[in-house]
Amino acid sequence: MRIVIAGGGLGGLICARVLKAHGIDAVVCERDAGREARVQGGTLDLTVDDGQWALREAGLEAGYREIARPEGQDMVLYDSAGTLLRQEITPDEGPLRWSRPEADRPALRKLLLDALPEETVHWGHAVTRAEPLGDGRHRVHLSGGETLDCDFLIGADGGRSRIRPLLTDAEPAYCGVHGVGLVIHDADRAHPAESALVGRGSFSAIGDHRTLSAQRNGDGTIRVHLALRCAEDWPETSGIPFDDPDRARAALKELFAGWPAEFLGLLDAASGPVEVYPLTALPIGLRWDHTPGVTLIGDAAHLMSPFAGQGANLAMRDGAELALVLAEGGDVRKFEQAMFERAEPSAQMSADNLELFLSDGAAEKVRRLFAQMSGEED
Ligand SMILES: Cc1cc2nc3c(=O)[nH]c(=O)nc-3n(C[C@H](O)[C@H](O)[C@H](O)COP(=O)(O)OP(=O)(O)OC[C@H]3O[C@@H](n4cnc5c(N)ncnc54)[C@H](O)[C@@H]3O)c2cc1C
Repeated sequence: MRIVIAGGGLGGLICARVLKAHGIDAVVCERDAGREARVQGGTLDLTVDDGQWALREAGLEAGYREIARPEGQDMVLYDSAGTLLRQEITPDEGPLRWSRPEADRPALRKLLLDALPEETVHWGHAVTRAEPLGDGRHRVHLSGGETLDCDFLIGADGGRSRIRPLLTDAEPAYCGVHGVGLVIHDADRAHPAESALVGRGSFSAIGDHRTLSAQRNGDGTIRVHLALRCAEDWPETSGIPFDDPDRARAALKELFAGWPAEFLGLLDAASGPVEVYPLTALPIGLRWDHTPGVTLIGDAAHLMSPFAGQGANLAMRDGAELALVLAEGGDVRKFEQAMFERAEPSAQMSADNLELFLSDGAAEKVRRLFAQMSGEED
């Protein structure tokens, strides 16, 4: 059986790896020109039942433990006046230490790529579309004009999937919020005050309709994220020159006027490009009628905002689970039903959390949410 996976993100790569572990060679078509073609920054917390389960199925648990940072679960939560609302410190031992450890996305991707034969990933192979050939077979069209025929096609090509139109007309829609990403380099040495503010894990400050957060990464950087409730065309209409980082950071600081100076120091300490991106999501509970020979996993199937921290976990669970079903000759229809049921509550949680984090009086609501999640308040 010839299997083609469109997209070499976390979902597609873990799928290929679990297939390989069961003696099946898949081809991964990845649009990036190579491993280092794009900076894949950020840190991801993988849950025991999803991301970590998938890595166990892939035989990569030991490698994961080497790159994971349990202490990255430390967090501090402030309101926009600078009041500390909550602090969590990761225990030195016990099950909580390994409940949601952080790992850098590039390190995770490297772990997966190193576990695959060199020839599995076809770099610089952007899928433009796919068409059915009958009997469950499909033809994949690539940007260079080349085509690949396969017996099973997996769309793991993210939110703007080129495979999705084979199964549904659904498209991602704007969630009403833009994210802005900045990076502080060499944080401990060059920016000790900001480094101390963020600690070993993450810092969040919540205002009305905007948040300022920062996360320590394993490579000495701190990644700063802003989330702002705004119109879809805000990057164009805001007047902020996003292509001129120094001026953009100064203009962004104006949006947080009145917040504590040490919090805004996170913007001053950043250098390099300022990334701005709309948060988009597929309809909550998206389903499609089963079509033989093709399916979707990860963001291609259930793109959601990052406000529940579930997208990578679900993509990895989907990828590993689908590989097991294909390897064991199982029922892809049942896999899809399980995926739909798994993704729907997470998509709902992402949407609810996005509304809550960017609402009036959000700081107290977020404090309460964390207390409820920890079982400290009803
Ligand atoms: C700011 C931010 C923070 C996040 N934090 C978390 C978190 O803490 N925890 C968590 O679980 N999730 C988090 N997520 C969500 C998570 O990043 C995604 O859900 C996850 O990466 C989805 O994996 P995927 O493999 O489905 O898709 P992607 O990671 O998007 O991978 C898709 C791959 O397909 C390739 N591709 C795209 N189009 C084509 C094409 N036409 N042809 C060939 N290749 C193509 C891309 O280059 C990419 O390599 C976050 C997301 C964002 C934006």
